[in-house]
Amino acid sequence: MTIERTLFSPEHLAFRDSLRRFMAKEIAPFHEEWEDQGYVAREVWNKAGENGFLCMSLPEEYGGAGADLLYSVIQFEELWAAGQTGIGWGLHSEIVAPYILRYGTPEQKSNYLPRLASGEMIGAIAMSEPSAGSDLQAVRSSAVKQSDGSFVLNGSKTFITNGWHADLVIVVAKTDPAAGAKGTSLFLVERGMPGFEKGKRLKKLGLKAQDTSELFFNDVRLSADQLLGGAAMEGKGFICLMEQLPWERLQIAISAVAASQAAIEQTVAYVKERHVFGQPVAAFQNTRYTLAELQTEVQVAQVFVDKCIELLMVEKLDTATASMAKYWCSDLQCKVMDECVQLFGGYGYIWEYPVTRAYADARVQRIYGGTNEIMKEVITRAMGLGAPR
Ligand SMILES: Cc1cc2nc3c(=O)[nH]c(=O)nc-3n(C[C@H](O)[C@H](O)[C@H](O)COP(=O)(O)OP(=O)(O)OC[C@H]3O[C@@H](n4cnc5c(N)ncnc54)[C@H](O)[C@@H]3O)c2cc1C
Repeated sequence: MTIERTLFSPEHLAFRDSLRRFMAKEIAPFHEEWEDQGYVAREVWNKAGENGFLCMSLPEEYGGAGADLLYSVIQFEELWAAGQTGIGWGLHSEIVAPYILRYGTPEQKSNYLPRLASGEMIGAIAMSEPSAGSDLQAVRSSAVKQSDGSFVLNGSKTFITNGWHADLVIVVAKTDPAAGAKGTSLFLVERGMPGFEKGKRLKKLGLKAQDTSELFFNDVRLSADQLLGGAAMEGKGFICLMEQLPWERLQIAISAVAASQAAIEQTVAYVKERHVFGQPVAAFQNTRYTLAELQTEVQVAQVFVDKCIELLMVEKLDTATASMAKYWCSDLQCKVMDECVQLFGGYGYIWEYPVTRAYADARVQRIYGGTNEIMKEVITRAMGLGAPR
């Protein structure tokens, strides 16, 4: 890209190099095998923990590195640029762990955070249900309070990233169904708790090496300590979910831009090599203009995303702006991948080509983290256009 990025220090750049070396050794050689089996090897989580790549932004007292969020930005960028999308590090390190850090009791933090940082535990967050995705207020899972203060959890979740590997799941459930959003709470549910079962791993269009599962909760008995944040946070789960949205949505935009730039670079290299009608594909005006347009849009997206990152770092990124970034960059990613596949011709449809995988991986970015239609709803509300009936 032509506009120099100014976010990163020499330490960040050195980190980018060390992450690339780790990925080349510990991820790249196994990615295809993981795609075939539908999940990454458990060991890569432990190795990532040993090498300090998990939960880097956690304070040192909880096993993190106390690093700024730019280190996590680099992780999202590198994994998506390389198409190494099997590892749900982002969700584990920058969604699950921050919930516990921000809202957990001191005991919950010291119990879980060091184990998430070391890779001993893999984290997941279970909001979506078979009949509640965009409309999270429609969640049916319930946690009924007992006379001794414990809860009994029932319900089922679907589409849960890291669900199959997960040792610790933050589960969204209603503690007071009559109170709507105000009756929603978050629970810390551990693998092995009686009544907690994992369903099948879902076969997907893309992100084939990433495990995405159904989870079932049948009369799971949870002590009062398993309520995230303790008794004071009962009924406040929805507020927690809303507060974390800007960073979660920006993560998708960051990865979308990085993946798009990588696909453009792969395509530039390919069209220079591939000859048709006695000339390189790069010589056709259609190829040149298409790539020029894509590169322009990705450059614009990068500048916008970098500004959003800057705002996030000073806690000034609002949900509507993050939603703009999520929707616009993921739409752009899908457009870039489609055009790049086209320029590869038939090879663009063959799985061994990274651009083909990038095309498949891109599609979900418009769906998860809140669909792009929901992003537009958020933006219209911030514009004072109100909510639909
Ligand atoms: C690979 C993958 C990983 C995921 N990981 C997780 C995870 O880790 N944890 C988790 O909890 N969930 C996860 N999800 C679920 C994801 O967040 C939901 O799929 C998403 O929020 C959409 O919900 P839904 O599938 O129920 O679609 P629906 O809500 O049924 O939407 C169907 C369509 O209706 C549109 N629509 C809905 N409401 C409106 C509206 N008000 N205005 C206009 N259009 C609307 C939607 O945009 C969409 O086009 C994951 C999903 C996938 C595919």
